[in-house]
Amino acid sequence: MMTTQHVLGRSGGVLLAAAVAFVVGVAIDARPGQAPPATPPPATAQAAPGARGQAPDTGPVRDASGAIIGFTKMAEIPGTPWRIHDAARPHPRMVTPGAMPGAAPSDAIILFDGKDLSKWMQGQNATPVDAKWPVRAGYFETAAGSGSLYTREKFGDVQMHVEFATPSPALGASQDRGNSGVKFMGMYEVQVLDSYENVTYADGQAGAIYGEYPPLVNATRKPGEWQTYDLVFEAPKFRGTTLVAPAYITVFWNGVLVQHRRAVMGSTSATTTAHDYAVHDPELPIMLQDHAHPVRYRNIWVRRLAGYDQPEMK
Ligand code: MG
Repeated sequence: MMTTQHVLGRSGGVLLAAAVAFVVGVAIDARPGQAPPATPPPATAQAAPGARGQAPDTGPVRDASGAIIGFTKMAEIPGTPWRIHDAARPHPRMVTPGAMPGAAPSDAIILFDGKDLSKWMQGQNATPVDAKWPVRAGYFETAAGSGSLYTREKFGDVQMHVEFATPSPALGASQDRGNSGVKFMGMYEVQVLDSYENVTYADGQAGAIYGEYPPLVNATRKPGEWQTYDLVFEAPKFRGTTLVAPAYITVFWNGVLVQHRRAVMGSTSATTTAHDYAVHDPELPIMLQDHAHPVRYRNIWVRRLAGYDQPEMK
């Protein structure tokens, strides 16, 4: 089956080859090692209408097989040290995607693989203890009232995948029904709730950034059905005690975009005062909230995002 990447790669190659023919004025299949024609052949109407005269030197760079893999003299890309199709631009590192949608890619940190809670603890501060939430057949469940779970490892910017199921049959109403949450850094919550035929305040339903942004749509599944969150969290950035960039959260809920890089206003815990930031460490544990309901979780992984950006902005 031809993937999107195949299609894009193919058309990109065709376009690139056409561009080369256009700017260099030579046949597309000219082989490396062949002496270039003394005089560039006239551009054909098919390949380069109107491209007559001296073609600019684009500085093509070829690999060992002769394939053009970049250029050195194309136009500059504003705001970066690179030129268009720059041969010197670092290539993205390889990551092997998971075998199935939702499966962890090769560079993920697995936080729960169906077996144990060794990556989690309870009690964030003075004396953390082993996580006590019960692990069952491939999932674990909130031990209602026992306290929230925190990752032993600390994280800043991450991509996170988490699957959850709210209790079935559903019990309670509004916030008292299938309530939990993914709290980045222990303070910025993406709400987990049973939002199937369950009215609550909009900024507190599932998929909400709690107390700030309702999800764009309600993409819930029914109680007891497994649901997915694919999250991107960008930690707030401080310089000294000054906030220089807020946190940003993106949420795909069951594959549906419901939060599009929302600028978080601050810790989502406050309700009687406006959300605000207090300076904190650049990395802190991710929390799964105990809200006294037996919400289930499985297949949780994160990818650290720091270091993946190429240092390309001037
Ligand atoms: Mg909650």
